[in-house]
Formats: sequence, C-alpha cells, structure tokens
Amino acid sequence: MDSASKTPAPAFRQKLLIAVSVAVLLLMLCGLTLLQQRAAGEVRARKNATALAFESRPEQWLAQPREASVFERALRTGAVAAVGVDGPLVLYTDRAGQHYSTRLIDCGPPCRGETGARLGELSLAQGFTLTQIDVDARTGSQRLTQAVERGLAPLAPLLAVAAVGGLLLLAHRRGLLSGRTPLAAKPALRFDDVIGAGEAKQALRRVAAFMKDPRQYAAVGARAPRGVLLDGPPGTGKTLLAKALAGECGANFISVDGSAFSAMFYGAGIGRVKELFKRAREAAPCIIFIDEIDGIGRRSSGKEGAASGEQEQNRIINRLLVEMDGFEALDNVVVIGATNHVDNVDEALRRPGRFDMIVRTALPTAPERERLFELYLGQVKAAAGMDVASFARTSVGMSPADIANCVNRAAAYAAEAGETEVGQERLYQSLETHQLGGEVNSSKAVISPETLRRIAFHESGHALVAHVLAAGSVERVSIEPRGPALGVTYITRHRDEPLYGEPELRARLAMMLAGREAELIAFGNASSGAADDLKRASELATSMVGSYGFGKTFGLLSMAGVPRELIGPDVQKSLLDEARALLEGAQADCRRVLEEQRDRLAALAELLLGQETVSGAPLRLALGGATSISVPLQTCVQASPSQ
Ligand code: ADP
Repeated sequence: MDSASKTPAPAFRQKLLIAVSVAVLLLMLCGLTLLQQRAAGEVRARKNATALAFESRPEQWLAQPREASVFERALRTGAVAAVGVDGPLVLYTDRAGQHYSTRLIDCGPPCRGETGARLGELSLAQGFTLTQIDVDARTGSQRLTQAVERGLAPLAPLLAVAAVGGLLLLAHRRGLLSGRTPLAAKPALRFDDVIGAGEAKQALRRVAAFMKDPRQYAAVGARAPRGVLLDGPPGTGKTLLAKALAGECGANFISVDGSAFSAMFYGAGIGRVKELFKRAREAAPCIIFIDEIDGIGRRSSGKEGAASGEQEQNRIINRLLVEMDGFEALDNVVVIGATNHVDNVDEALRRPGRFDMIVRTALPTAPERERLFELYLGQVKAAAGMDVASFARTSVGMSPADIANCVNRAAAYAAEAGETEVGQERLYQSLETHQLGGEVNSSKAVISPETLRRIAFHESGHALVAHVLAAGSVERVSIEPRGPALGVTYITRHRDEPLYGEPELRARLAMMLAGREAELIAFGNASSGAADDLKRASELATSMVGSYGFGKTFGLLSMAGVPRELIGPDVQKSLLDEARALLEGAQADCRRVLEEQRDRLAALAELLLGQETVSGAPLRLALGGATSISVPLQTCVQASPSQ
C-alpha cells in the first residue's frame, strides 16, 4: 500500500517539469516576437513616405516587370513619377499612376554608384521622386521554402540523429538487431508429408493432441508437455517434423538456432531468450523450434573464476530453464530442440518438466528411400519408367535431405545438358557424385588407352565375381573417373539386413579382390589400382578372424575383448596368417570364376570401353542373366582409386 501511494510522485514531478518547460518556451517566443515588432516599427518611423509606399506593398510593382530599356525610355521621355532603388532592383510609378518594376544590369558597386548619380541628376531635372528602398523581391513560395530551409539547417544534425535513432528503434522492434526471429506463417505441413519417422511421429502426435485441446488435459491435472528433444543425424527431417507438428495443430512456428543466443554483447543472449518466449506466448498456440540446441552449450561449474563467456552461457541456460518452468498448461507453447549430439545437451535441460521427451530420427530404410525418391522425382520433370527401387538400393546411408539434393542435382545436370526431362542416367550420375564425392574429373582426358583398358577389366572383374558369387546385385559399372576413383562398380543389397553371414562375407572378399585378379588374367600383371581394394579386404579378413569368430586358431575369442597386454607378437602373427589364408581362399574363388568367365570378362570390358557406363538390362545381359542371390549384400561401391 505504502509503495503504491508513493509511485505517482515521480510521474507527477515529471509532468510538472514538462509543463514548466513548455510555459518558459512559450514566454520566450512571445517576448522575441514583441521585440521584433518593436524594432520594425522604429525602422519604419525613420523612412520617407515614398519609400514606405513602395515597401508596404511591393507586389503591386513586382507584378508588372519591364525590361531595363523600357525603364530607360520612360526616364528619357519624362514619363516617370517616382522611383525606388534597391540595388539593381527598381520599382517605378509612371505619371499615369501605373506601377512597374525592372532590374538594371548589375555591373557591381562602382557602376551602381554611377547609376545612382545619373538617376539623382535626372530626378532633379525631371522632378520625379527618387528614394532608396528595402524590399523583399522573392515570391511567397520562395520565401516559405527559404524560411523552412533556414529554420531546418541548424536542426539537420538533430534530425539525422533522430532518423538513425528511429531506424534503430524500428529494427529493434522488428527483432533485426536483437536476433529476434519473426513469426513464421503457420506451416501447412502435415505428418503425412514426412516420409518414414514413424516412431517420432507417434510421439509427436501426443504433443499435437495436447496442443489441440490443452483445456481437457488441464482439467484432469495432466502435466503439459513442455519440451521435446529430436535427436538424429543431419537431414533426417527434425525440422520437417517440428513444422509438421505445428501444421497438425494449427500452431505458429518460431525457429531459432541454438547459437543465436550466444550474442556478441554480454547479457544480450538472455534478452533474446526472454524475448523469444514472450513472443511465443503472444502467438500461442506456438512451437518454438531450437535447431542445434547443443549450440547453447552446457553449463560449467559456475565457479567464481569461470570465464565471463562461461558465466554468460550458464545464465542463458538458466534463463531457458526458468522460462520453461514458468509454462502453464494453458500457455500452449511447446519447445522442440533438435540435435545430432544429445549428450552435448545440458543435463538440466533434459530433466522432467523440461526437454523430457527424447524422440529419435534415423536414416531411412530401403522402402522409405523408395518413397523419398518418388516424392522428390514427382517434384521435377522426371522421365517415365524410372527404376526407383534400384535408386533406393543404391542409396544406403543417404538421408532424406541427401536424396532431395540428389534429385535436385540430377535435374540440374539434365538442364545443363539441354534435356527436357530428368532421365535415369542423370540420377545415377548424381548418386555417383554424392557417393564418390565429386563430379567426373579432368583426369579422364589424360588417361591413356592402355590404362583405360586396364580399368575396364578391373571393374568388369568386380562386377562379374559379385554377380556369379551372388555377393549382391550389380547395378552399374562405370570407367569414368570421379573424385579419387578411376572406375566404379555399384553392388547393392536387396534387403536392409543388419547381419552378415559367413558365406556372404567370403563372397564380398572375393568381389573386392576381383579387380586385381582380372588385371592379372588380362595383362599378366597387376597395378596400384587395387590398393584400396586390398586395404578393405584386409580389414574385413582381420575382423572375420579376430572379431566375428570365423577363424580356426582363435575360435570364439574376439580380439576386441582380449586385454591388449595379452596380445603378444605370436597372437598377432597367428591372426595375420589366418586372415591371409582367408584372403588367399577368396582369391582362389575369384580366380576360378574369372577363368571360367574369361569371355564374359572380355565382353563386359569391351562394352565399358565403348560406353564408359553400363547399367540396367545391357549390364544384366553382359553378366549372363539373373543369378540366385542367396545372401543379399549391403550397397558396396567398389571404387578403384587412382593411386
Ligand atoms: P534436419 O532438421 O534433421 O537436419 P530437415 O528437416 O531440415 O533435417 O531436412 C532437410 C530437408 O530434407 C527437408 O527440407 C526435406 O526436403 C528433406 N527431408 C528430410 N526428412 C524428410 C522426410 N522424412 N520426408 C521427406 N523429406 C525429408
């Protein structure tokens, strides 16, 4: 009560101060006007009647301008009754009582003296009245604009400051300076627009149900969801899901980046958090989406010696916690945080009542990839009859965003080539660019025909052995150099199986060695092109013996579980010997297949030399038709590097 009665005092004092200032200003203005009027009266009292007549209404003379020659003629003929001179300006009245004005040629002060003397003599001779006058010859509008200009000139710096201040204020209000994110329009997305992510959608549907009818939940005392953490690899649709959630419940969507809170100025980050939540409450129902929420950082110990940056970070996180704790069920604001590293999100943020729901997004499965290709190919002008299933098989490990980019890049390739639609070949080209990390490179021009022949046999070897030993479905073989690879063989799995059987792994080993073996069969010697194949085959063989329990010497012992100090040189030697034996077994399988299929190997190599890239039906034909794929393999890109 006491404090309430005291609060008006400063406000009243402020108003009184303003009133007194205005009154003083008005009084000063009145005084100045009176003073000016008095001075003008005194000047007038010292003027002659003719001068006063000219000066009181100069417009009457100025409205009738005449050439200087007309004035001279009137002087000579004695037609002039009165003349008023103000520098080169002359107002004169003729004997008929008509008023005129003229401007004499202004040739400077000495000349003006001469003119004055001449007029003086003529006035004496002819008897007209001659007087010095002081008139303002400007038009009304000229006078007004010049007055405004003169009045504003001293205010110009003030106005500039005010304009800059106004702009800054406007920018601040609009959030341009404070990093405040403007409200996005309500997203039109729905969960059905997000392909896959079934588990995430199910969890978010619960949030949607709450946001659509928070009263019902509040009535039974159910706790409102406050925060959801979306955790998953980049491009797996976290932003899309958050937007779809907003779309499902007709909510507003505000998107910010976790790093947006770490401002350059101390304290500004906290201001941004406050402003964000204030804005969301005003726009409820509302989803606040904080992308890369781990960018806010984790709280440090907060010890006294902590750097000011850390203290600021602590304060930002604390503010976020305070804001989220302050949510009421009927506020109808939900915060969605997205991260690829959920462990980097501060633990306090993950406690109940904050981001207590963790929803994971994952890379799409083969059927999901197929739907994604269909979706994105539907958004470009795609050729009819595309083998979408093959794209899905060839794109293991790609995120939905990668697939969207891939289709987009294929469309760009088609446009660059002047094609009217996006064909299958363009899509493969784009997939290769993604998987091999580069476009067809310039080394193509400098590869000799002999080397190209070797590459063709090398890739044909991989393809043929993979096909015959059912290591997978050979989708495409190319001898166009891309990124670091001189040639590529795509081998895919029919199903996304998490497990690999022993025969499958042996077939894979053989397939990896087949490039080198093909070179040996065709040319009698091998090249450095098999370096990467040998490296990967050695890694696989070592894992088969040391980790998967496929070796004889170690049996079920896994090297990963044996303490390092127990793995002496003898153990290492045994492991390497057995891995080598495994490789040699695979090499023997591989050689047998290639010897048997010598003609096919040569035919496929020739086909590649003619076409550079072979896929689809011609490839299947060259490989000898369908094989019974007993154990399908995961997509394997046999890329032969240039070293
Ligand atoms: P994240 O937030 O996980 O990094 P985004 O939601 O920003 O990924 O996805 C980037 C783009 O990838 C989207 O704009 C969309 O084109 C595409 N995309 C991602 N996930 C999906 C999905 N599940 N269904 C359809 N398109 C998707």
